[in-house]
Amino acid sequence: MSVEREKLEADVLIVGAGPAGLACALRLSQLIEQNAAAGKTPAISAENIYVLEKARELGAHQLSGAIMDPCALRELVPDFEKSAPLDTPVTGDAAYFLTATASWKLPITPPPLQNHGNYVVSLNRLTKWLGGLVEKSGVNVFTQFAGASLIYEGNGVAGVITEDKGVGKNGKPKDNFTPGYELRSKVTVLAEGPRGSLTKDLVNHYHLDGVNPQVYGIGIKELWDVQPGRIDAGYVAHTLGWPLDSDKYGGGWIYGLRENRVSLGMVVGLEYSHSLFDPHAAFQTFKTHPFVRRILEGGKLVRYGAKTVPYGGWYSMPRTYVDGGLIVGDSASLLNSQRLKGIHTAIKSGMLAAETIYEALAAGDPSAKSLGAFPKKLEASWIKTELWAVRNFHQGFHDGLWPGLLNAGMQFVSGGRGLADPMHCRPGYQDFRRLERPRELVDQSARFKGDGVLTFDRLTDVYHSGTRHEEDQPCHLVVSDPGICADRCVREYGNPCQYYCPAAVYEMTLESGQPKLKVNASNCVHCKTCDIADPYQIVNWVPPEGGGGPNYEGM
Ligand code: SF4
Repeated sequence: MSVEREKLEADVLIVGAGPAGLACALRLSQLIEQNAAAGKTPAISAENIYVLEKARELGAHQLSGAIMDPCALRELVPDFEKSAPLDTPVTGDAAYFLTATASWKLPITPPPLQNHGNYVVSLNRLTKWLGGLVEKSGVNVFTQFAGASLIYEGNGVAGVITEDKGVGKNGKPKDNFTPGYELRSKVTVLAEGPRGSLTKDLVNHYHLDGVNPQVYGIGIKELWDVQPGRIDAGYVAHTLGWPLDSDKYGGGWIYGLRENRVSLGMVVGLEYSHSLFDPHAAFQTFKTHPFVRRILEGGKLVRYGAKTVPYGGWYSMPRTYVDGGLIVGDSASLLNSQRLKGIHTAIKSGMLAAETIYEALAAGDPSAKSLGAFPKKLEASWIKTELWAVRNFHQGFHDGLWPGLLNAGMQFVSGGRGLADPMHCRPGYQDFRRLERPRELVDQSARFKGDGVLTFDRLTDVYHSGTRHEEDQPCHLVVSDPGICADRCVREYGNPCQYYCPAAVYEMTLESGQPKLKVNASNCVHCKTCDIADPYQIVNWVPPEGGGGPNYEGM
């Protein structure tokens, strides 16, 4: 569809209002103020900085455990403790190994899981607060706008086209059709979180992959209100073992929040071999363990969500700069998978990106030559120190839990080197094993249903995610060859999309006796697992009409 688009020009365009994008915007506004206060003419103005966010309001798509190391926020907002919505400081931590019926507390909490000095937070609330500071600084924040495609120019990017609004499922404009904007910018910052759709496109377009491809986990979370006295506010527990087999990377978490609220969830590496494994059912099963049940019994599910986690670390970092463009935060693989933390590194990377951009625009040169200062700043910062020490951590678990723990020990004593450095990995979808016997469509009637009190099926959980999409719009899960789903995938892998999607989006149906893929796109919680884990790589997640998706209020 060829349409006339309104053009807007910005100095800096930030795609994604998560911790990295907002930190970048806020730091830029601070630099503008500092320069003005020093009597210098600022290189840019706050009103020429645009932040785009696809969610219906700030924070609505932000999901994390979440424990925040406050070191970066302290640098960005030194008096943050006065106004930031920090739920509770961590008051105690423990790590457990679970079997089906018992729990063993490790005699000492492994140092990466010690959280003294950190805060249990709702990332949704923290992001809303940070976004408020950004708006107050004069930066333009546009919610309900997604970056649909990048504007490529020369050897870099020159902005984004936002999504068209008011397009029907048949691809035709409806009465309320509004074409997306052509948003041109001197510098475009991709802060889309894990598996950003524009970041994926940029990395493929310019072959920016790092030493390793990115590898991911899926995190599934519920928020509960529990009976008083079941868990202390600030108590943090991590679990290993049951119900995950030792060939799966992952574990559970239980964090006590204020007012008898509990955050609990499970992360599982998306590199397991059994294609019919169901991460959502595994998480529900986790809740039936006596250790977890004891906390939840008599309580009530409040919210549900799911999101992927970029596990790859330093060696999966793509090249983070091109002419007119930078990649920050989770999109740039800056999460510390050993500590299960990425909010602090996301904030710091946003700040360093802002400093790089300011210098580049002050010198009138937003080319890759100037923006190449960004990875140098990352290298000179504590981000490198922290991530370098765990650069082989996740790869070490490729062959299972026990070899992984052994590798982790070797890496600990050798400053991250371990037995091989760099330790290579491949994309997780390549680890799916083909079914031993080709099969017909698998009957789904025996899928996990839950008891409706402690455990839930996926649709009940999706209801608790607050997910909403405009129904009459093109499907945002673009399957390039549904014929593969209906034939090869049935026989070779048993259609794993029906299992790894935590929102019951994918369903194989029979039409005139033939398998057919049905996509219930309006359930999608934007976790991106299908885009990552599809064994044939024929699923492309593209942003739906802005404002659609989950509402992670309080998550
Ligand atoms: Fe996640 Fe894909 Fe399912 Fe949406 S359709 S919830 S992105 S796996």
